[in-house]
Amino acid sequence: MSTATALPPPTTTTTHLLSVVVPVFNEDVVLPIFHAQLKQVLSAIAGQHEIIFVNDGSTDQTQAVLDTLRASDPQVAVARLSRNFGKERAMTAGLELARGEAVIIMDVDLQDPPELIPDMLTAWRGGADVVNMHRTRRDGETMLKKATAHFFYRIINRLSEVSIPNDVGDFRLFSRRAVDALNRLPESNRFMKGLFAWIGFHQVTLDYHRKGRAAGASKWPYWRLWNFALEGLTSFSTVPLRVATYVGLFSATGAFTYALYFLVKTRVWGDEVRGFPTLIEVVLLLGGLQLMAIGIVGEYVGRIYMESKRRPIYLLDSYAPPRNTPSPAP
Ligand code: UDP
Ligand code: MG
Repeated sequence: MSTATALPPPTTTTTHLLSVVVPVFNEDVVLPIFHAQLKQVLSAIAGQHEIIFVNDGSTDQTQAVLDTLRASDPQVAVARLSRNFGKERAMTAGLELARGEAVIIMDVDLQDPPELIPDMLTAWRGGADVVNMHRTRRDGETMLKKATAHFFYRIINRLSEVSIPNDVGDFRLFSRRAVDALNRLPESNRFMKGLFAWIGFHQVTLDYHRKGRAAGASKWPYWRLWNFALEGLTSFSTVPLRVATYVGLFSATGAFTYALYFLVKTRVWGDEVRGFPTLIEVVLLLGGLQLMAIGIVGEYVGRIYMESKRRPIYLLDSYAPPRNTPSPAP
């Protein structure tokens, strides 16, 4: 018998066995290819499914393509965000709309192969709450992107309070209680890889080989990736704040020791007008360190500021549910 005193968290009424959540941003070219391949896999799986496309403020023909797909496939749902909110928030929207017992998030560019869905479902039936898909290889990506991703995962893992699995992207399966847990996290700085790890539960990792994009171009230029990395670090670790403290402490101690040495030196050997380069060097170094520390603090203060506004994470323009939605089980 359970002795827990806390009220159980609310669970969403499910209407489907599986929801596939797909964030899309300017992907009109690859969308029909993706849909066809996904359908092929899903049609072999027993049980109702829904495919929730989240149109993240696309400016090309994406919405028209999505409307056509929904007209031809009763299992397609189309959520349209009021503007481009970014992949993290688009995924959040999809997770909140999903009504499946299990929910899979995947990219539309076929870098996350739909053929793996049956294996993910098997792991879920075996008791997993989160099935993490671990990339053993990444094709079609530049050395620089692979190298920066590699270091990003290692650094964030060192610094973050929860362990974020290396080389696991957003391609994952969640059980209903894991999705409900994610939906209860209120923060608007949504570093999803961190949140996915934070919820805990029974996590299982499967390996796969990540291929290149089927069509279209990546939406993640390096500047955006850098900002994403900063977001991840600052929302899952306060170690950088401490680094500032230690660096400050270290340089202050250094400066103090140097001052003592200088005092003794002048007393013993007299004062010479020398050492200007050292002086300039120290002034610049300390100035730089201070600015850096203020910058780090600023990153956090800025995020506290954004968080304190308590704005909704995303805004829906419209939501067209799957046409085949069965009524929820009584
Ligand atoms: N995406 C999105 N909003 C954005 C950028 C990307 O919903 O602002 C979607 C995109 O359509 C795709 C997925 O996120 O389904 C991954 O994007 P992409 O393939 O460009 O990223 P990469 O694989 O290069 O990291
Ligand atoms: Mg991609």
